[in-house]
Amino acid sequence: TEMTAQDVLDLVKKEEVKIIDFRFMDFPGMQQHFSVPAEALELDTFTEGLGFDGSSIRGWQAINESDMIVVPQPQTAFIDPFMEIKTLVMTCNIGDPITGEDYTRDPRNIAQKAQNYLKSTGIGDTAFIGAEAEFFVLDDIRYDQNEHSGYYFIDSSEGRWNSGRDEGPNLGYKPRYKEGYFPVPPSDALQDLRSEMVLHMQNVGLSVEAHHHEVATGGQCEIDLRFAPLLDMADDMTKYKYIVKNTARKHGKTVTFMPKPLFMDNGSGMHTHLSIWKDGKNTFFGDGYAGLSQEALYAIGGILKHAPALLAFTNPTTNSYKRLVPGYEAPVNLAYSRRNRSAAVRIPMYSTSEKSKRFEFRCPDPSCNPYLSFSALLMAAVDGIQNKIDPGEPLDRNIYDLSPQEAAQVLTTPGTLREALEALRADHDFLLRGDVFTEDVIQTWIDYKLENEVLALDLRPHPYEFALYYDI
Ligand code: GLN
Ligand code: MG
Ligand code: MG
Ligand code: MG
Repeated sequence: TEMTAQDVLDLVKKEEVKIIDFRFMDFPGMQQHFSVPAEALELDTFTEGLGFDGSSIRGWQAINESDMIVVPQPQTAFIDPFMEIKTLVMTCNIGDPITGEDYTRDPRNIAQKAQNYLKSTGIGDTAFIGAEAEFFVLDDIRYDQNEHSGYYFIDSSEGRWNSGRDEGPNLGYKPRYKEGYFPVPPSDALQDLRSEMVLHMQNVGLSVEAHHHEVATGGQCEIDLRFAPLLDMADDMTKYKYIVKNTARKHGKTVTFMPKPLFMDNGSGMHTHLSIWKDGKNTFFGDGYAGLSQEALYAIGGILKHAPALLAFTNPTTNSYKRLVPGYEAPVNLAYSRRNRSAAVRIPMYSTSEKSKRFEFRCPDPSCNPYLSFSALLMAAVDGIQNKIDPGEPLDRNIYDLSPQEAAQVLTTPGTLREALEALRADHDFLLRGDVFTEDVIQTWIDYKLENEVLALDLRPHPYEFALYYDI
């Protein structure tokens, strides 16, 4: 059963909580927070909220209209396992005090609207999402804080990959490139660290299914959460990242969720599983291809059709497109298959039960804002179902092995963030339905990403340009 406002107040008393920490997701997908002394939390805080200045939050209000309110959501409360002073954390909705309404650029509000929109269509009442985030645990990162060169330097003694700097003894057990999946310790040096992350996750109420080392060297890991309704999964993924990063930090290590930190090895994906349920029945379960229903196939049709635009939310960084290249288990082609992992949509065949029937969109990566990414994915699926979009024939051969003529038939993922943003500019009507994403949200997203990331990178000489051109 979910915690109510009164339950939270009782918990604060019982656990002698000293500090209440309010958290929310900014536009590009980083959680932000501020705190109040525990005495300040009252029953009406949960309805009226608390004010803060929203002007410095990335992608949000202009300075002249910056007063915003946080409205804490009691069902998200947990005691922070990392703070020495007893601190209770709550995820918040953002209110706009001028209109008195939920703020339209709040990612959590967008996810709520996506869920409501699904219901309003009659297609289903619940969208279940499962997300498998991968990440790298590293020992050290150095980069020049001076933004003019942007040069960076990373050193990891967990993996073979290193800077050539003296890194101390390693005793020989270092996963080779692409061989991290998944020999036992001592090759896997991160078993206890992941287990500790899992215990923290369970303590804050997340359901964990499994954890393991991943394919890449340098300490690539995966911890899998149990699937949940869309909004809950986005809240859970946010807690997941917080726990992963802070557990590593306690042990003097650092974690990155950037999609492609290492050249020549696998990147980090966040494969996203989707099923739509109605009246307790899985509408994706049927007797079509790979045990899917016609609705599920149409949903795949919608996702593949809108994929170039969708990727502006599911793969929203310049680095995302360095992962989406052939040869690293990341999808490059916009196709579906039950067999191979080189297709953008895969239908897992581990189980044939109704309960577990779903498909997996393999493009997303953990640099996404989960609220926006899951919402956009659902909107593309719903569009496919409403407009009966045919996904075409499945591609059951390894797409990497197709002849050039065959390969030319298959559409590919955008090559850069700029391409994805331009695709989104041209194709976003499917996101506007039910006012889930507003025109303002789409335009703000495109402008923010182009200006702060695409153009910012274009303007800077890259370290590899020195290797290519220095002696020209
Ligand atoms: N790391 C791969 C990716 O980028 C996935 C590897 C796997 O889970 N099989 O998507
Ligand atoms: Mg997995
Ligand atoms: Mg994986
Ligand atoms: Mg997967």
